[in-house]
Amino acid sequence: MSSIDEATAGAILTIDLSALAANWRFLRDKAAPAECSAVVKADAYGIGLEPTVRALTAAGCRTFFVAQVSEALRVRAINRDCVVYLLNGLTAGASEALARENIRPVLSSLSEIEEWATFSSGRGRKLPAAVQFDTGINRLGIPYDQLERVRPLLDAFEPALLMSHFAESEVVSTRNAAQIAAFEKIRAAFPKIAASLCNSSGIFLHERPFHDLVRPGYALYGGNPTPNAPNPMQSVVSLQARVLQVREMAAGERVGYGGEWTAPRVSRLATLSIGYADGLPRSGTAIGRTGIEAIVAHRRCPFVGRLSMDLSIVDVTYLPDGAAQRGDYVEILSSTIGIDEFGRKSGTIGYEILTRLGQRYARRYVGE
Ligand SMILES: *Cc1c(COP(=O)(O)O)cnc(C)c1O
Repeated sequence: MSSIDEATAGAILTIDLSALAANWRFLRDKAAPAECSAVVKADAYGIGLEPTVRALTAAGCRTFFVAQVSEALRVRAINRDCVVYLLNGLTAGASEALARENIRPVLSSLSEIEEWATFSSGRGRKLPAAVQFDTGINRLGIPYDQLERVRPLLDAFEPALLMSHFAESEVVSTRNAAQIAAFEKIRAAFPKIAASLCNSSGIFLHERPFHDLVRPGYALYGGNPTPNAPNPMQSVVSLQARVLQVREMAAGERVGYGGEWTAPRVSRLATLSIGYADGLPRSGTAIGRTGIEAIVAHRRCPFVGRLSMDLSIVDVTYLPDGAAQRGDYVEILSSTIGIDEFGRKSGTIGYEILTRLGQRYARRYVGE
């Protein structure tokens, strides 16, 4: 599957497709009888669009959401029958290409709706699309006060899905209840259209605002949809990097660019063949941050010094002699240190860790 050879790769990214499918089934069962779709934008959050769509299709998923046309075409190329929604909507002039490949734009402004309605009328066929209202994120979506201007346009095409999106469903917030209520009002205005509000975290809200379809992304890939509670999802991604060399350091020696870390005692350091060009955030090793860790020989070891482009350094002083050696693999991401923890300790979120995963790894897809 990968053009990079495992035997010589600096790092190996393992993607567990059976855990991915199990996560989808778990969310499907939780949201039933609502349909469970899958959000596979950004190359399925970095884990690979094609293997993800294949595995989830086999698990029973029939509806996929992507952000961009290029992604929609990749889904369509391997699955002729599924429903594909384009979250970023209708780029001016793209109607023809979307209609040809049976891709449904998520229409999020009056002008997009007008363009699709006109195009659809011209075709003499009611082409399906989703209509997205804004209920509080103020990003994409039609404001509530334009609702009556939308209504007459809906006859010219097939409004297949009524949508809105949460701004902070991963936290306990009164804004979630406000968005749920706002969406109820919109739904009541168009009772015949199937509706969808929930992303991953929305599926875990106590209100259970599942409507007809839920749209998880992050949780499918093992991210924690309930960041203040244990992760109910199975780990999908693991990442191992190779030790290039192990060196002994005297107390007081400076390590890495800018000498940002100074050995406080005699130390033993392992240099790994993974860096920010592989998607690890350089900010993860900033001064003052309780930084990221790797697992070496079953023990957590801190990264020290500034992460560089192709290399990083971990402190293995407290491991037994010989526990870390040239050629060994250490765990960067695993079920122990997951994307959520790694993201938090790097000053970002697990979503960003996932979607930045580099193209230089040997990729191993297991559990097909
Ligand atoms: C990305 C996205 C989702 C999926 O969100 P997750 O938090 O990854 O589950 C759902 N709906 C919309 C509109 C999105 O942009």
